[in-house]
Order: sequence, then C-alpha cells, then structure tokens
Amino acid sequence: MNSFNEIVGHEEIIKHIKSSIKTDKVSHAYMFEGEEGIGKKCLANAFAKTLQCEEGKDEPCNSCSSCKSFDSQNHPDIKYVVATKKTGIGVDDIREQLNMDINIKPYRYRYKIYIIEEGDLVTPQAQNALLKTIEEPPGYGIIIIIAHNSSRFLPTVLSRCAILSLKPIEEEKIKSYLIEEEKLSQVKAHMYASLSRGNIGKAKIFLSSIEFEEIRNDIIYAIDCIIEENDLEILEIARKIGEFKEKSDMALDLMVTWLRDIMVIKEINDEKYIIHKDKYKTLLKHGQLLSYNRISVLMSRLEDIQKNIKVNVNYQLSLETLFF
Ligand SMILES: [Zn+2]
Repeated sequence: MNSFNEIVGHEEIIKHIKSSIKTDKVSHAYMFEGEEGIGKKCLANAFAKTLQCEEGKDEPCNSCSSCKSFDSQNHPDIKYVVATKKTGIGVDDIREQLNMDINIKPYRYRYKIYIIEEGDLVTPQAQNALLKTIEEPPGYGIIIIIAHNSSRFLPTVLSRCAILSLKPIEEEKIKSYLIEEEKLSQVKAHMYASLSRGNIGKAKIFLSSIEFEEIRNDIIYAIDCIIEENDLEILEIARKIGEFKEKSDMALDLMVTWLRDIMVIKEINDEKYIIHKDKYKTLLKHGQLLSYNRISVLMSRLEDIQKNIKVNVNYQLSLETLFF
C-alpha cells in the first residue's frame, strides 16, 4: 500500500524523487500538478510514507511503526491541510493547520509533512499566508501541494516549490495493469485503457461505474437518433445524460471514442485499432449510415464542448447543441 512500486507509470518523477531521498537532497516544498485521476495523490502519499519510514530506504518498508501508522491513516507527523469553510482553503486554515503547527517539533519521526490535497482551493490570501512558512520552514518541515494547475499559484509560492508535472501515461501500461490487477480480458482492458487516455484514475472510474454500459448504450442510441433525425428522442437523451456532471464527462469521452471508431472503420477497417471492439457490428452500421462530413462536424463540436466544459455548467444545453 502506498509504495512507489505500486504506481503505474511516472517513472521519471519517481526516479527523481528516489534520488533526492538517496542523496538526502529533499526540498522543503513540492507541488505535484496534473489532471484529476492522473496519480498525484498516490505519488505524494508514497513520497511522504517513504520519507518517514524508519528503514530510510527509497521504498517504504511497510512494517515499521511509521509505515504501519501511515497505513492505518493516523500518522502523527503526516498531516493533511483541509478547507474548513465552503469558500476554500483560507488564511485561517493555513495559519491554524500549518503555520502554527509546523513550529511544534515532530512527535516522533524525522520530518513533519503537510499535504494540501486540494491545492486548487487555496485562496490567494491563503497562498500569501503559506508563503511565510515556505520561505523559512524548520529543517524538519516539508509541504506538499497537490493541484490540477500550478498557474493558479502566486509566482512567489511557485518559485519556492519543486514542481513535478504528471503527464498522461502510456495506454499500454494501463492495459497491462487492467489485465494483471483487475483481471480484465484483452478486449475490455484495451477499451478501458483507450478511453482513459493515459489517466489511470479515469480508467478505474469507467471500470467501477455501474452506469458505464448504460451511458454507452445511450450514446449509441443518440447516434441512431441522429441518423434517423428523431429530434424528440435526442432531446430526451441530452436531458438524461446532462443531469449529472460525472455522467456527462463519461458520455463525452464515450462519444469521442465512438465517433473515432466509426472513422477508423470507414478509413481502414482494421479491428486492431478499434476501441469499442465488442460493438463492432453497431459501429459498422453507423459507419455505413453516417457521412464523413457529418462525423467531422460532430467531432469538432465535441472538441469545442470539451474545451469549454469547465466554464460551461449547463451540460444539457451543450449536449443539445452537439446533437443538433
Ligand atoms: Zn517503514
């Protein structure tokens, strides 16, 4: 649990972290940045656990008292800074949970580590409060900030952090993980790995979602309706999928890969490159009934929607514009 050797991908970053541990050149502040589900929290936790492990190696031993208390989620010297108000992680949160606390010596272990998991929620004022500590932390203090995007942070904060950017990992690695650890078949593993686009968290969400098949069927049905120009039904599907953000995100991903598969069938028709292999016949039918032009219009609209989705909260409307 929470070891580097359990993490899929991110070899370069792990190598960098391990060498800083081995050479005793650990920084006082880190920022792990990257999209949701990419593995930032896993890395940060493995890092913190390894730093505190009493064996002092570059992997946690999993049996010392530090490793055990970490695994039971009550390590006295690894703390998580969280928001106490709905407005985000504010000045008071940083002052009380970090700035004041860090001055108290570690309870038992070598370091005192603070992990801010929702770094994106740290307000600019709170970043200023954080700056004081990041500038002059005690020798045992380490602060790890986890964020989707470092550009939201004050340059003064960033300049004090070692920034580690997590990139999507190779789909082949996710596929192997799904086959070995989740015991999926080749076909299913290939599909989920392709859908994840290098994001293992996403692959796991797809895998565990009981709605996955339902949403995929909705998307297939939506394409049927587009072909048949059944506007009423299209509206109904847009309403159904647009209800929840998570559903809509998944629906958009499924739609993109579905259309991409149709294109593959029309152009080269090689099953090897198809993501939704288990629905080959339906893809073939859609490929015969949809023109290149129609597909590329849908694809470019989808791209626009995915780009704007963060600012555009009205999923239902977005989906309606997509379908019409
Ligand atoms: Zn240990």
